[in-house]
Amino acid sequence: MIWFVLAILFLVIAISLHKSANKMDRQYSAPSPSPSSVLSTPKKTFWEIYKDINPTKASDIENLLKIDFSKLSEKDVKEKIASIDRFAKSLKCGVSQIKTTYLAEIEKYPAELLPQMIDSTSRELANEASAFNISQTNTISAMMIAWLKERHEQLGKPDANINAPSTIDEIEIVKALNPRVTDISDLRERLKSLREMSSLYKCPMEQLRDFYINDIKKNYDGKYENFHYLPEAYKYMADKAYETSPLAGVAPDNTSYGIMCDWLSDLMVEEREKFLATGQVKCIMCGSRNIKLSFFKDCFVCNSCNQKFGGL
Ligand SMILES: [Zn+2]
Repeated sequence: MIWFVLAILFLVIAISLHKSANKMDRQYSAPSPSPSSVLSTPKKTFWEIYKDINPTKASDIENLLKIDFSKLSEKDVKEKIASIDRFAKSLKCGVSQIKTTYLAEIEKYPAELLPQMIDSTSRELANEASAFNISQTNTISAMMIAWLKERHEQLGKPDANINAPSTIDEIEIVKALNPRVTDISDLRERLKSLREMSSLYKCPMEQLRDFYINDIKKNYDGKYENFHYLPEAYKYMADKAYETSPLAGVAPDNTSYGIMCDWLSDLMVEEREKFLATGQVKCIMCGSRNIKLSFFKDCFVCNSCNQKFGGL
C-alpha cells in the first residue's frame, strides 16, 4: 500500500539519520586535507581542496543545492556535504540523482498531502539538527522542505488546469468512473480530484479506476482469509478523505481518497459475491455456511444466527 511506503520511507530516513549520527564526526574529518597539503597550499579553503579531490561530485553538489559553495563558511560546507552524503546513502543513489529520486517517491502520493509532508518534515528539522549537532539549514530535512515547497508551488500553477471549466466529455468520464454520483456540483468536485490524480499518476482519467484496483491487487491476493485487508484499507482511506478535504477544498467523498473509497467499496461487493458463490464464507459466530449478502451487499449475514460480518 502506497501510504505505508511513504511512512516506511520517512522511517528509514529517520533511522539512518540516527544510526549514522555518531559516526558523522569521524567520517567527515577523514576526507579533510592532510596537514602537509594544507601547509603547501595555505590559501586554499576547505571547499577548494574538496573540489580538487572530488571535482565531479563537487559540481553535482553545487548543482543539487543551486548555491555557490565558495561563499559558505567551512562549517556550512562540511555540514552540507555530510547531509548530502547521508541523503544519497539513504536513497541509495548518487548525489546528482538525490532530488529526482526523492521527488519520484513523493509523486507517488496525492498532491493534497504535500502540506502535511511539509509540516511533518519541518517538525523533524530541529530533531535532525540536534542529533547531528549541525545548523538546521544544513540538514536533509531542510533540503526536503525546499523541494516539497517547490513541488507544491509547481502544482499550484497547474491549478489553472485542475480548476479549468469542465467539458461535457470530462463530466461523462467522471460519471462513468462512479455511476452512483449524479449531482453536478459533486461531479465537478470529483473532476478536480480526478484531474489531480491523473497528473500525479500520469494515467489517463478514464483508466484511473483500473490503475487503482490493480494497485490494490498487488497487495491483496483475492483469498478469503485476506479479505479483511480491504475493509481495513477502506477505513484508512475514509479517514484520509476527511483529513484532506479542507486542504483539497472539496467534500470528503469527492477527494481522491473518497473516490478511491468508492472503487474499493465496489471491489468489496464483487469479492463478497465471489466468496459466497464459491462457498468459502463461514459464520464467524456459529460456523454456519448458510450465509447471504446484506441488502446493500456491504456485509455478510448469517441465516442461522443473524450475525453480520465482513463489512466495515
Ligand atoms: Zn451464524
